Amino acid sequence: MIFLDIDGVMLSAAGWKPVENLEDGFSAFSKKAVDCLQHLVNETNASIVLTTSHKSTYPLNQWNHIFETRNLNVTICDKLDDNLISLNRKDEILNYLNAHPEIENYVIIDDDKSLNDLPQSVKEKLVLTSSLIGLTQENIERAIEILTHPTLVGI
Ligand SMILES: [Mg+2]
Repeated sequence: MIFLDIDGVMLSAAGWKPVENLEDGFSAFSKKAVDCLQHLVNETNASIVLTTSHKSTYPLNQWNHIFETRNLNVTICDKLDDNLISLNRKDEILNYLNAHPEIENYVIIDDDKSLNDLPQSVKEKLVLTSSLIGLTQENIERAIEILTHPTLVGI
């Protein structure tokens, strides 16, 4: 399972950069990030849970279509609950994990700094991206390591 953010991961979240939208009205993804995410999914066969603050904007089938339109062959199987009480990303993810104890093998890919305060056992599964750069090959290598050797993480 991949907990995936979008801003600062699939595209640069630099405030001075105008966000380019595709015809469907949602942001274009950076080509590098698309290549990286596809590589991760190809290597691990993992599905995606969306964590982005945009999650409530579309239903799941439309999210799958949005990723497909951006040349990604991936499966988005769920998204975090609507964030009605403005939790930080850390608490949103912890709530989801508590509600889904069956999820043991996962990686969190996000640029949200609140995740630095995750409890250690969860933080071991965090790949924090640089907001201005987004997903890199180095991030993906780490994510593959976390998903394929979960017991070695932290060593
Ligand atoms: Mg973000």
